Amino acid sequence: MNRFIRFSIFALLAALVVLPPSAAQTQRAAKRPNIVFIMTDDHAAHAISAYGSKLIQTPNIDRLAREGLKFENCFVTNSICTPSRAAILTGKYAHQNGVPVFNHIDNTQPMLPKYLQTAGYHTGIVGKWHLGGNDPKRPDEGKPAGFDYWNILPGQGAYFDPVMIENGERKKLSGYTTDIITDLSMNFVKNRPQDKPFFLMYHHKAPHRNWQPDEKHRKQYENYEPPIPATFDDDYKGKSDAARQSTMHIDTDLTETDTKVKPPAGLSGAELKRWKFKRYMQDYLACVQSVDDNIGRFLEFLDKSGLAENTIVMYTSDQGFFLGEHNFYDKRFMYEESLRMPFLIRWPGKIKPGSVSKDIILNVDFAPMMLDAAGVKVPADMQGRSFLPLLSGRTPKGWRTSMYYRYYHPGHHNVAPHYGIRTHRYKLIYFNKLNQWELYDLLKDPIEMNNVYSDPAYQKIVAQLKKEMNRLRKELKDEDQFTDTLPKDDVGG
Ligand code: CA
Repeated sequence: MNRFIRFSIFALLAALVVLPPSAAQTQRAAKRPNIVFIMTDDHAAHAISAYGSKLIQTPNIDRLAREGLKFENCFVTNSICTPSRAAILTGKYAHQNGVPVFNHIDNTQPMLPKYLQTAGYHTGIVGKWHLGGNDPKRPDEGKPAGFDYWNILPGQGAYFDPVMIENGERKKLSGYTTDIITDLSMNFVKNRPQDKPFFLMYHHKAPHRNWQPDEKHRKQYENYEPPIPATFDDDYKGKSDAARQSTMHIDTDLTETDTKVKPPAGLSGAELKRWKFKRYMQDYLACVQSVDDNIGRFLEFLDKSGLAENTIVMYTSDQGFFLGEHNFYDKRFMYEESLRMPFLIRWPGKIKPGSVSKDIILNVDFAPMMLDAAGVKVPADMQGRSFLPLLSGRTPKGWRTSMYYRYYHPGHHNVAPHYGIRTHRYKLIYFNKLNQWELYDLLKDPIEMNNVYSDPAYQKIVAQLKKEMNRLRKELKDEDQFTDTLPKDDVGG
């Protein structure tokens, strides 16, 4: 037997031994869906046309509703950027994951990307991280844990020519950040290993304050006249002191950094308030329009690369946002515009196109659902629940009919701490530092203008809701961990 034949036989045997398991592995990997989690920062559901927006058309985000499922009752458990991101990564409430305010996340705890990575997924995050990390020298930058690839903005990041940190290396890029984050997300998918499913967190910075659009979209909205919300001139009569005390009012708290230009001379009172609102909406919506264009580009990329069929694509925002309702911008309050998150999901072959769900889901449910979809057992200590059955239109027996919310810190906009519960019909809010209550009957008063907490007709409901809230607090183990000792390592925002 000459050397060549001996080598060939050896190679053939080696191939027989090595190739079949490898091919089987590839096949198994192919069956598991890829997962793309798209998240923006501060994008209200009522600025998406699939949610009936009167402000804007978002045809590309709408595609996910048309080809997938729209959740109408998705809520945030603490309406503020950093805590929501931590809740999404850990599947736990703030008092369990250690991120009640703008503090760093402890990266050593178990998190969604770590579980998926261990299960054989190629994991990546591109764009906004905003959770700091365990490096005291670079507290604003952090290090995402559990990701094979990460390319993140330090802190809030810039709208133009951003610095980004790619696997620990700082790089200055040029261009508009919404476009760049999309390009880098596509690169992650293009460069992935072929023998593994992938998990991508594609996180936009936009449309976070101070709303800086690119030239194309700025021009599109420069003469835009926004419709005035029904609650724009809410005088807070009947509400607790919290709304009045806060500093996130359109008329008194939007600054020239927000409006970018000085108001026309002579404007005051109601006219000035309307002018400020118009400037806010022009820039905010222009930023959203750019996000929508880019999501369109990303979805087309999935189509063209043949990946759309076996990829779950989700769209959400880290919380809701006030677009002039109750004279507010920003979030934090448990009122509807801030509490509600958009959540759209497409999974060809698994989700019936054009589906709508009214079941209550929460940001702490995202991680359990994604693990469940990937065939990974949901860890018992996650507080959220997998809503995988809801994707095929089945509501499991005993699915939640109430949700618990908690906001901890007055923070940058002086919003009084509060907690409360929302059911399908009612919302009870307790401003614990003020010792004041609000109750809304959302069926009769969806815009939350009439606090009926003291109305004798609602006393039975009040008692029931308090009982349910206490049950949830106990179940979730909220024992006031952060009331007096809030973490102080503020990462800004
Ligand atoms: Ca946010």
